[in-house]
Amino acid sequence: MTDRLETYRTKRDFSQTSEPQGGRRKHKGSMFLVQKHDASHLHYDFRLEMDGVLASWAVVKGPSFDPKDKRLAVRTEDHPLGYADFEGTIPKGQYGGGTVMLWDEGVYAVEGDAERSLKEGKLKLLLNGQRLKGGFTLVRMRKKKSEKRENWLLIKERDRYAKDAPAIGKWKRSIKTNKTMSEIANDAAGDTWKSNRAARKRKLNDPVRKNMRLPRFHGPQLATLADDLPRGDWVFETKFDGYRMLAAVAGSNARCYTRSGKDWTDRFRPLAEALGELDLGPSLLDGEVVVAGKEGRSDFGALQQALKEGRKKQLR
Ligand code: MN
Repeated sequence: MTDRLETYRTKRDFSQTSEPQGGRRKHKGSMFLVQKHDASHLHYDFRLEMDGVLASWAVVKGPSFDPKDKRLAVRTEDHPLGYADFEGTIPKGQYGGGTVMLWDEGVYAVEGDAERSLKEGKLKLLLNGQRLKGGFTLVRMRKKKSEKRENWLLIKERDRYAKDAPAIGKWKRSIKTNKTMSEIANDAAGDTWKSNRAARKRKLNDPVRKNMRLPRFHGPQLATLADDLPRGDWVFETKFDGYRMLAAVAGSNARCYTRSGKDWTDRFRPLAEALGELDLGPSLLDGEVVVAGKEGRSDFGALQQALKEGRKKQLR
């Protein structure tokens, strides 16, 4: 069986876009959805769940309630079912770069066999969405020799949902989040891990944070022997088996000290880097460096071994 999502995957770089990679599902459902997509040209992506994927068309002007309108619907690659939830921003320069809004969703019924109708180029649909309702026909136009793409038309049937004034533009908000296109675009700018990473990098290179002065080393509080338990409420702390560490942190700088004040920053390098990313004001932190063994328990032997062999990434 050919992979119906191969084209979808080859067009996208999943290290760059947050669109789902997806897989094909076996069950036969009958969901449909419309995504408003502000890419190089604004269009509405019309998708029908069929044979475990979403058969897709880009409806250039969007669907219309007026049966006199024949809306050009360009067949596009099948999308994974997971795409039905997708709303957000595809990074610029990526395939389909731009904002995607979930504009409508619901269920559909089709006259006859869906797969065969798709091959034959005529789908008589009954839609029950939040916005689109009633009969619609998708019909394939004859292909000219020069044409690579499949051009279809999306036409409203005459029924009680048909209207002369096909103002679909009145729906300006997402059915999923109630956001406008620009709200989705603005959100996405702050949301994606990539822009977070860029912000973190900017922060780390910020001269104020780089030059913030570290607090001076101060010996840690140590447990002392006592005859009786002190009165009051009790909080228990897990006894970790590792090295006590005092970390002086300020902005993107951090140094790690042993309890007697030896500078072990180099030995604890990954921890020092992680502490620098916390972006704290001048602080002295008191903690225990451990390596988690089996079942997540701290393992002193494993810690010594990790330091000896330079496997510093294991440090916690
Ligand atoms: Mn699109």
